[in-house]
Amino acid sequence: MALKTGRTVKSSIAEHDPDFAPPTFAKVVATIGPASDSPEMLARLIEAGVNVFRLNFSHGNLDEHARRLRTIRETADELGRVVGVLGDLAGPKLRISEVPEGGFILGVGQDVELRKGVTRAFFEDRVGEPVPVFGVTIERIIDEVRPGQRVLINDGAIRMLAVESEPGVLRCRVLVGGEVTSRKGINLPETDLSLPSMTDRDHECLQWAVANGLDFLALSFVRTAAEVRSLKETIRGMCAADRAKGDEQGSTIQVIAKIEKPQALDNIDAIVAESDAIMVARGDLGVEMDLARVPVAQKKIIECCEAHGTPVIVATQMLETMIDRPIPTRAEASDVANAIFDNTDAVMLSGETAVGKFPEVTVRTMRRIIAEAESHMRAHRLSKPPMRFAEGHSSTAALARGAWQAAADLDAAAIVCWSQHGGTARYLSQNDFQIPILAYSSDPRFVRRMTLLRGVTPVLHQPPTEGGLGFWNRTVDDHLVALGLASPGDWIALLAGRPLGVAKRTNTLTVHRVGEQDSGYMRE
Ligand code: ATP
Ligand code: MG
Ligand code: MG
Repeated sequence: MALKTGRTVKSSIAEHDPDFAPPTFAKVVATIGPASDSPEMLARLIEAGVNVFRLNFSHGNLDEHARRLRTIRETADELGRVVGVLGDLAGPKLRISEVPEGGFILGVGQDVELRKGVTRAFFEDRVGEPVPVFGVTIERIIDEVRPGQRVLINDGAIRMLAVESEPGVLRCRVLVGGEVTSRKGINLPETDLSLPSMTDRDHECLQWAVANGLDFLALSFVRTAAEVRSLKETIRGMCAADRAKGDEQGSTIQVIAKIEKPQALDNIDAIVAESDAIMVARGDLGVEMDLARVPVAQKKIIECCEAHGTPVIVATQMLETMIDRPIPTRAEASDVANAIFDNTDAVMLSGETAVGKFPEVTVRTMRRIIAEAESHMRAHRLSKPPMRFAEGHSSTAALARGAWQAAADLDAAAIVCWSQHGGTARYLSQNDFQIPILAYSSDPRFVRRMTLLRGVTPVLHQPPTEGGLGFWNRTVDDHLVALGLASPGDWIALLAGRPLGVAKRTNTLTVHRVGEQDSGYMRE
């Protein structure tokens, strides 16, 4: 049995219009940086379809992030749009310290020094030629790397070999050259560093993220489920004051585990079970393990997330060449489409929107690729009844199965739920209904957390004070038509409970035709 296909994509995507940004089921996460933090650019990115903005704590200070957060929220409010904000904790990542404006170009065969006490890179005059000298963010590595071990910069794009060490100085020879700019990451594949998963700076960023009500927090270099659990416990402790006031969910921020270590792949099932969402962080993953294994790792991680009903983001270099050019490579277009075929919930842009020349074009291009991939999938894949984690006596699962059956029988255009804390929206999203899901809540925090859910359009709305569900139905019809998700006369299925606006009350499945409200079936 197949549900109606192609509903959300009304115009032809094949019209070759680079400005066209069709609605998609999969979500787009975009990293904010100097290229994208003006109110004008943020507005354009939201219009182009960014659902979640990422603040990467590896770059910039907390004042800058605070300014960016304020601008994101003001811009979203002005546009009347819901966007989520993800804070990405740097973790124990080793980085080059500051490099003067414009960066240093390293050539093959060149000698380079990493030296303690250097905060800003410089060229040192030697007989022959000047040698670039860099500082690093975790200085003890300078004495720990042994000659013969590799030193990789910028997700492995620049490759060096350690050739000589003396106290406080590590000399390297460049094997693959390129440009090094400030705070580029360093990977040491052969050097075993036992570093804590959270640094002092991460704790500072965590405090800031919780205090400022961020929606998602990504933990880098996760190796075990215990690291995720420990972060979640710390957050629960920080939110104890909210709970004391009766706000059970408090300011709990959703934790995203970044999978970028081979050890995490060994423990993937437990990590996914513990996390609110997962990020396939291909940048470091492709350096920490053989690059050839990354595509398969991506598929396995996504499959594991599907089995647990956990949203997953595919990240890094998706449209990398668009940092400098307005058109991606064919390989990049295929990469985005293949992530969709793998069933990811979201795709992410990093440098493309943070420091790229074409942030808006990149987001629109990504949307068009996703839309084409999704319409292909809807034409070739049947929607399955919701099965996932339906064991036990879950009323949400039972109602969702009913909604699926009704939607299939009636060829419904959309499914609508009131999901105060987002649980029903998440369940529907993870069961791939292949029709749009409109999800309501009156709590802005939970509405923002729905931004990562595939197929879900979150709506912030106050529960009706009179008229109950019947009144809400009329609002829903208006919203669906305004959003282009349904037309008058289309069947839709609704999941809700009484009273609206209270969590854990979902117990009612109804169907109706958009615009026909006189059945009076649920007057209160
Ligand atoms: P991570 O390992 O967390 O992904 P990253 O260094 O790879 O860290 P990305 O967010 O993936 O950072 O962005 C890619 C590149 O874009 C970075 O290497 C950096 O040069 C640049 N960049 C990203 N965000 C900023 C920012 N806020 N300010 C300046 N440059 C940035
Ligand atoms: Mg990166
Ligand atoms: Mg990383």
